[in-house]
Amino acid sequence: MAKYVGAHVSAAGGVENAPLNAAAIGANAFALFTKNQRQWVAKPLSEHSIAAFRANLERVGIRAEHVLPHDSYLINLGHPEPEGLAKSRAAFVDEMQRCAQLGLRYLNFHPGAHLGKISETECLARVAESIDLALDAVPEVVAVIEITAGQGSNVGYSFEHLAQIIDRVQDKARVGVCLDTCHMFAAGYDLRTWEACDAVFTQFDRTVGFRYLRGMHLNGSKAKLGSRVDRHHALEQGELGLEVFRYIMNDPRFDDIPMVLETIDESLWPEEIRLLYRLQESAGLS
Ligand SMILES: [Zn+2]
Ligand SMILES: [Zn+2]
Repeated sequence: MAKYVGAHVSAAGGVENAPLNAAAIGANAFALFTKNQRQWVAKPLSEHSIAAFRANLERVGIRAEHVLPHDSYLINLGHPEPEGLAKSRAAFVDEMQRCAQLGLRYLNFHPGAHLGKISETECLARVAESIDLALDAVPEVVAVIEITAGQGSNVGYSFEHLAQIIDRVQDKARVGVCLDTCHMFAAGYDLRTWEACDAVFTQFDRTVGFRYLRGMHLNGSKAKLGSRVDRHHALEQGELGLEVFRYIMNDPRFDDIPMVLETIDESLWPEEIRLLYRLQESAGLS
């Protein structure tokens, strides 16, 4: 099986519970927050939690490279003001360290927002500088930039934005991207037909390159194409439709990377994971 599918599972009660929560829904990849995502400061991971996380990961048979931790929503690596930028950079380094302690390889994050105070180009340059600083501070962990829906003043809503950040990052081996189907669609990338997917992912390959693709977020969208509104939906509901998921599940360029559901109804996750694997089998039948 070359496809690794799961969901953003709960780490309530300790990060060590996340691998068990993933296994319980039939996942062989997952995402998690390694700290409360709505707070700036968290107490360090205990030795017990770290050991238990590693043991549970091993026990459920999920590999570290199929885990895609997500950072806190408070962090803005492109913050226009010195204080907010410094606070964000410190928190990001802390998140990277937590990933390293857990033996994980990636940290997924939203690039940042200019808050109407600096240009997009300036903001993207700040994000790249923030990544450089984090990569210097923490060895091994790869910074995985997520494409955004472009809501509010968020940057990172186009392949060009992702490429601009990567261009400026010094250590190209430790920067990557995560494509979120809901965000892409809301940002204006039509994914509703096989042909549309072909065009969009060809454009992605030319602008960014599949060699930088480290993960996917598989989500339906409540909001319309190009609305720049970030509202996830269940896979089988909303504006996007299933064709993009059939495309992804049958294209080897999406092999061996964590693919994570952030769909809104957790009770559907086991079913959605099974649906994705069924789409893989049904290639060419429709
Ligand atoms: Zn995200
Ligand atoms: Zn996402």
